[in-house]
Amino acid sequence: MASLTMRRIRQGEVPIDGGTAVQDDPDRPVFRGNGANDYVCAECGNLLATGMNPEHMGRRVRIKCGRCRTVNIAADVPVEMARRRR
Ligand SMILES: [Zn+2]
Repeated sequence: MASLTMRRIRQGEVPIDGGTAVQDDPDRPVFRGNGANDYVCAECGNLLATGMNPEHMGRRVRIKCGRCRTVNIAADVPVEMARRRR
């Protein structure tokens, strides 16, 4: 199984048509499936979702890490907000 690191959402990158799944227990992934990939937190590497396929982890899916509270989005989503610089 591949392990993919998600990425942080950027300021203002909050699509209105999705929800944020909150991980209540840092030791338990929010989503479990029979797919190919594990998804881990961009900040602390905590396991957030296991057995998920990329089509299930589109830009509507966001997960708030139960360990560090970072809101993550799947890393393979096209980065449309990359022009934003700090
Ligand atoms: Zn984390």
